[in-house]
Parts: sequence; structure tokens; C-alpha cells
Amino acid sequence: MSDLSRRRFLGVTTAGLAAGALNRNLPGSAWDSENSTPTPAAKGFLAIASANGIGTVAKARKLMMEQNMRPVSAAVQGVALVEADPNDISVGYGGLPNELGVVQLDSACMDGPTHNAGSVGAIEDIMHPAQVAELVMDRTDHINLVGAGARQFALDYGFQAENLLTERTRKIWLKWRSQRSNDDRLWPLQDTNPADPALADEPRPWGTIHCSALNDQADLGCTTTTSGLAFKIPGRIGDSPLIGCGLYCDNGVGSAGATGRGEAAIMSGGSWLVVERMRGGDTPEEACLYALRRVAEQSERAARWQPALWKDGAPGFGLTFYALRKDGLFGSASMLGKPGSRKFAVANADGVRLETCAIAFPTN
Ligand code: ASP
Repeated sequence: MSDLSRRRFLGVTTAGLAAGALNRNLPGSAWDSENSTPTPAAKGFLAIASANGIGTVAKARKLMMEQNMRPVSAAVQGVALVEADPNDISVGYGGLPNELGVVQLDSACMDGPTHNAGSVGAIEDIMHPAQVAELVMDRTDHINLVGAGARQFALDYGFQAENLLTERTRKIWLKWRSQRSNDDRLWPLQDTNPADPALADEPRPWGTIHCSALNDQADLGCTTTTSGLAFKIPGRIGDSPLIGCGLYCDNGVGSAGATGRGEAAIMSGGSWLVVERMRGGDTPEEACLYALRRVAEQSERAARWQPALWKDGAPGFGLTFYALRKDGLFGSASMLGKPGSRKFAVANADGVRLETCAIAFPTN
């Protein structure tokens, strides 16, 4: 490890060294994308998601088991619960708006067996952007549709236009607007805005749901859906609609996704990197920690133009990766937090539950 080992990067794992050592001894063929035949180790129907996805993983697994739904569609249907939930102010209906008070949503999905993908960016008025992304994947040979084009595409396929701003998010936006600095487009980086105590009790400005799913044929699929960074400049898209950044899957290896500071997941090609690390033999958790370490190295350099990106020997923002390997092994790691404090959702034969993320830079 380079500079970071002398700083704060600890990479607190939850699975411990044994799993890593075991994994390195696995035959390479299972992780070779040329070999997409089901592995004997595949553990049946399984879904993982960010911590807000307990209902999502349960639904995705059920749809794969009971309706033989392909993993990508099961993930897309699973996240629909959160997209429709006004109480989750980071996704879909009731998501925090951009600086003009308009909700603009980002989403993408990826199908392992066909290595196909679709996405929508900065789409307005459509509650279920992941479903629109799935249509882009299935009905076009494009991958990214944005803005008015994405909205029109959705309307053409029968989606209803509706106001996605709720009373609660409108009030949060009004409060932000009354206190904003017109020329500070660098704010905010952190979960709360320490420079502005009046906003310190507001919900964190980032939030998203990622879901990766695996069926009993060892086929994979994934989706990520979000309202993105709260109060963003209109037209800003994050990592969630970008393949390789907010999500990625390779049917011969595994699936991954990200939540948190999208710009960091974009600049690192984060989800792609996690999958490639699994191809090289990392466990899912090791792969997530590796990607976070790369992000940290990049952030330290980037702090030359934005000092808030690197504070007290650690990145100044949150980012979490989630990873699901083709054999059913899964894991997640977060950039910052107290050990044990960050969770992710899992549904498999052992039940539906929250599991603990590893932490790259543990805090007290
Ligand atoms: N990654 C998302 C974005 O940057 C937001 C989040 O996950 O909190 O748009």
C-alpha cells in the first residue's frame, strides 16, 4: 500500500482473512467472463441492496423464485417499492429536488446474460426511472437517455407524468434555498453541512438504492436508482445512471453498485473496478475496500482543487460499494463510519436481514 497505509486507511473487514485466503485458492475458471456457465457453488436466489432496500431484496428474491423473473427485472421491480415511497427522500417520489425545486431522477440497470444495459438521467415527472431504464435496455440499442428525451420516451411507453415533489421535500428545499450561497457550487460534500449549522439537522444530501440479484442459474442483474445529490445544478447526473460507475455486472464474475458521492464513483469507474477485482480473485468485501482505497488516493490528489475532499487523513465524503459474486458470496464496504455502523440488505435462503459493511476509514 502506498501513502494511504501511513494515513488512516485500515479497511476493517467483516469477513476476516480466512475468506480472502480461501477465495484466492478458487479455480480461476469460475471468474472468467468467457465461462458463464452456472458454477456448482451458486447458492440459489439471492439479492443484496443498500440499507434502505430490505423490502427490495425480499421482493426481488421472491419474484425470481416464484415467477422465474430474470434477475435484472426482479431488481428493478424490487426498487420500485422505494421509488414509490414518499418517506425515502433520496429516491423517486419524494426525492429531494434540484436547486430549482424540480425532482430529477437518475437510474440504470444491467442484465448479466445479455451484457446489455439501459439508463435514464435527469428524468422529470416519472416515478419509476428504473423501469424506464429497463425499457431503454430492452427496446432500443441505446444505453443513455437524458432529460426531456428520457421523459418523452417514458410517456410514449405509457408512464404517467406526475409531480414528484412532496410537501415535506418542498419545505426542505425552501429552507435550503433561503440559506444558500449563490456562488458556492462546491457545497455540500458531507452528510451534513458543518459550515452551516442551520442545515446540520437536515437529512443527508445523498441517497440512492442499489440492488444486485442472482438466480439459481447463476445469472446476474442489477439496478441503481436515485434522486441524486440534493439541490444539484439542474441537469447534473451522478454515477447512478452511468454503467461502470453506479452499477456494473459481468455474468461470468459478479455484480456491483455504489451509493454516496457520485462524482467519486464516476472518477474511479468504481463499480467496474469492484467487478474486475472480483475477477482477479478478491472476495466481494475485499473488492469494495480496494475500490474505496483507489477513490481515497484519487481524492487526496483532487483535494488540491477542492480541499474538502480530503480531511484529517481521510476522504471528506461518504461512499459505499456493494458486491455480489457469481457463486453467491456478497459483501459491502463504506468509506467512513464507526465500525459496525453501516449496513446493507441481503435476502437469501438464510432470510432477509441487514448485514454489516466493512469500513475503509473507521471513525470513533
Ligand atoms: N450516488 C448518487 C449521486 O451522486 C447519490 C447517492 O448515492 O447518495 O447522484
